[in-house]
Amino acid sequence: MKLVFASNNKNKIQEIKHQLPKDIELLSLEDIGCFEEIPETADTIEGNAIIKANYVTEKYGFNCFADDTGLEVTALNGEPGVYSARYAGEQKSTEDNMKKLLKALKDSSNREARFKTVIALNLKGEQHLFTGIVNGTITTQKAGNEGFGYDPVFKPEGLDLTFAQISLTQKAELSHRGRAVSKLIDFLKS
Ligand code: IMP
Repeated sequence: MKLVFASNNKNKIQEIKHQLPKDIELLSLEDIGCFEEIPETADTIEGNAIIKANYVTEKYGFNCFADDTGLEVTALNGEPGVYSARYAGEQKSTEDNMKKLLKALKDSSNREARFKTVIALNLKGEQHLFTGIVNGTITTQKAGNEGFGYDPVFKPEGLDLTFAQISLTQKAELSHRGRAVSKLIDFLKS
């Protein structure tokens, strides 16, 4: 079965391909000739996942799933949340975002945070949502070179390493997106 993942993020596509059953052919936005930027105008993570999935299904007619992720930091009242990509500005710079986050938490002893991913799946005319959450803490400095985004400053609960210090396989087992994708896969197999 052909299934579009409404993303061109090579890291995410690689992470998800790793988990999908082999009989599912995963297509990226590029693969279906969708080169426009899909507006992410909702003020919730769920809302943005739905916008992206609906855009592809309505305009291109494919079964499709889309994900949206936010980093919710307790001491910052859940920020950056749905605005995680643009936390330090429209340039969407990972480095700037991490810098701003570490600065915002400089004097905070509460370093609790969680990543939340919502996947919206449009399959055969029906929509299904899958949520994955991983609790953890924000480190005081960056560590590791793997992964992407906020990975160098996020330590998942129960591990003394950041997401940027572990392998793709280990991250898929532990991560917010890995957990949401597992739910998606269980659904697709059922
Ligand atoms: P998106 O909604 O998945 O595009 O992600 C929103 C923001 O969260 C972006 O700044 C991403 O870099 C960041 N992000 C998403 N997933 C991860 C992850 O697995 N690790 C670290 N940062 C992530």
